[in-house]
Amino acid sequence: MQTCVSCHAEYNQNEGEAPVLRCPDCGSRTLDDAELAGWKRLRDDLGHEDFLPVRIFDGPVDRALISAIFDDEGVPYVVHGGGMFSDALSAQNGYGVLLVAEDSEAKARRLLLQYDEAVVDFPSDPA
Ligand SMILES: [Zn+2]
Repeated sequence: MQTCVSCHAEYNQNEGEAPVLRCPDCGSRTLDDAELAGWKRLRDDLGHEDFLPVRIFDGPVDRALISAIFDDEGVPYVVHGGGMFSDALSAQNGYGVLLVAEDSEAKARRLLLQYDEAVVDFPSDPA
């Protein structure tokens, strides 16, 4: 069974059928039972953890790329604010604040460093 991460719709699949990886209703990704159990466990664990801010996104691309990297690396994160609001808080916080669980802070900072270096080193003028 696949469960949608956004609307929690559940999709059963028959033997030999490909799983539904994108929710047809809302377009979000779905998780299989093992993944879902993993995320539930993680959420329970994280309920006891402090989240630390590690970065303020400086733009939508920054936000999208870093979110993708953290997804790939399996670093749990939340994004607070940004983008959708036009109040004073979001102006102050740019495109959102990235927070990671205390346990993952070291890894998160290392990934961010790699990301920043990769951006700086990116050849703007291919020889
Ligand atoms: Zn959905």
